[in-house]
Amino acid sequence: KRSDSGSQDQPSAKKKAGDVDVVVDHYNSRPEVGVVQRQDSPIIGLKNFNNWVKSVLITTFAHPAFHNGPSSNGYGKGRGKVLDMGCGKGGDMTKWAKAQIRELICVDIAAVSVDQAQRRYENMRSSRFDAYFAALDCYTAPLSTAFPPARLSVPFDVVSMQFCMHYAFETVQKARCMLDNVSKHLRPGGVFIGTIPNAELLYSHLDALPPDAEELSFGNSVYKIKFDQRDTKPRFGHRYWFFLQDAVENVPEYVVQWDCFVELAAEYGLYPKYKEEFHQVFSENQEVPEFKNLMIRMKVVDADGGSSMDEDQWEAANIYIAFAFERR
Ligand code: SAM
Repeated sequence: KRSDSGSQDQPSAKKKAGDVDVVVDHYNSRPEVGVVQRQDSPIIGLKNFNNWVKSVLITTFAHPAFHNGPSSNGYGKGRGKVLDMGCGKGGDMTKWAKAQIRELICVDIAAVSVDQAQRRYENMRSSRFDAYFAALDCYTAPLSTAFPPARLSVPFDVVSMQFCMHYAFETVQKARCMLDNVSKHLRPGGVFIGTIPNAELLYSHLDALPPDAEELSFGNSVYKIKFDQRDTKPRFGHRYWFFLQDAVENVPEYVVQWDCFVELAAEYGLYPKYKEEFHQVFSENQEVPEFKNLMIRMKVVDADGGSSMDEDQWEAANIYIAFAFERR
């Protein structure tokens, strides 16, 4: 178990400005809670569901990418290399272990979270893959500034960006830097998967607000979204403030307009193969035996099929969409 971690000495992670400070401070200050305490979260049903969606995405799109890859990477069939960009505290580490990967590179702008991710890896009982960690603002700096060239010489089979890509849509420059980091070290035929806010749903709520609405906000007991303005819908920097109970405390986020994302991604050789709302991911996969059993194991439903989410959590679940792109 080795690490190239430069969390303490990454200049790019220290140089922050404006909204980025708020985002970094927020994620750095969120306490790491253990598995047991996690179960006490008032939105544990929603958290489990989000994790189930990520597992479905990884199983459906990442696993085949490992098996279809060239054996010339020295790892052998089915033993892939993954970049987890915006890895947070390493919540997907077990999912990658189950995928029997060979190598994982984890980066996030929040240095405290990266350290927690590294500790999680070191405490894993059977981590049969190598993992390397670095704190990096992936939307302003190339990946190569955080890792030695040898670490990046074998390309990735999969790049994963879970619940984090939308922060790049503050400006076109950030979105481009992010896409360059995704695409530059991803092999042809490799897969880019992620989860982002559901722009169509956000805009349908925003458009439905009365013309004289004092505040451009909507939500329920679990989440609240408050837009700065609705006079224009810019392709980058359309900001709103996001609150999610027991998870996100009024952090600035940006709408990712799907067409804009697809158009820009094509410039980096990335082409969409899947895009679904979370509700749709559920209805598509709930009867697939593997995923049905996983739903019980991950406590999304109980053995009788009863949901662990109340109506407000279920509504909040559809704030997100899942996607997969292929590198050509
Ligand atoms: N991917 C993890 C997961 O699914 O549990 C964490 C998701 S968390 C909601 C969003 C993450 O995006 C945070 O850890 C945050 O620090 C990270 N992030 C935001 N801006 C970033 C940037 N410019 N570069 C790298 N990571 C960033």
